[in-house]
Amino acid sequence: MALIRLEHVTKVYRDRIALSDVSLSFEAGEWVLVAGPSGAGKSTLLRVLALAEKPTSGRVEVDPIAVIEAPSAPAEPASPPPPHRRRVPASLVRRHIGILGQEFRLLPDRNIFENVAISCNIGGIWDRAQIRERINPLLDQMGIRGVEALFPNDLSAGQKQRVALARAMARHPRILLADEPTGNLDPSSAAQIFALLREIRERGTLVVIATHAEEWIRRYPGRVIRVERGLLRSDGPEGAAA
Ligand code: ADP
Repeated sequence: MALIRLEHVTKVYRDRIALSDVSLSFEAGEWVLVAGPSGAGKSTLLRVLALAEKPTSGRVEVDPIAVIEAPSAPAEPASPPPPHRRRVPASLVRRHIGILGQEFRLLPDRNIFENVAISCNIGGIWDRAQIRERINPLLDQMGIRGVEALFPNDLSAGQKQRVALARAMARHPRILLADEPTGNLDPSSAAQIFALLREIRERGTLVVIATHAEEWIRRYPGRVIRVERGLLRSDGPEGAAA
């Protein structure tokens, strides 16, 4: 079973068709770039994949076992019993999907540790030592160890996005969806984020990135899904991966 499958998905906002009859399937560990001009439907596609938005028609299927019981995730205290393949609520599946946006959406009145820890705090009460054990390797991986006690406003945009990425990865999701993740970054910070996203994919997570910048497709080639006016124009390897 695919990790996520869309079947004939159409999304209409009032009189505007944001997605039109899109069928796609995603497997674990894929590197996928969703490309297209502004207004093409990229964000809508990611919101549908994130189960944050219901299609007007068509189906979205997520393999709940594969998504919730990530084999790479460290054992969680107080984790729920294994879900039955059917009848898993979308709200539970959604919590296991990592999301990264263009805006960093950090809580300004919480320090960096708490901003990342907030994602660990689902499904059970963890003590601070357990959370620290999980978060420290992530902070190391994102190159932001040592800033835990600072607040978002103390950090550069690039650092903030790396905190947001650590938060998105705190539950070791099998799926990471990134919508224009470098939209607010300078070129060097943007390159760092892409390198980190690539590394996350190398460790087995499906990474889907929406971008209107062709530069990233050239630099990080892979499967490219092109959308235009809500229509799926092409889907396949591009660049060096072709
Ligand atoms: P992209 O991410 O490629 O810029 P979007 O998915 O944001 O494209 O938008 C696709 C189309 O759907 C656009 O015409 C946009 O105006 C419309 N749209 C997106 N979200 C909404 C919404 N919440 N309400 C109304 N129209 C929307």
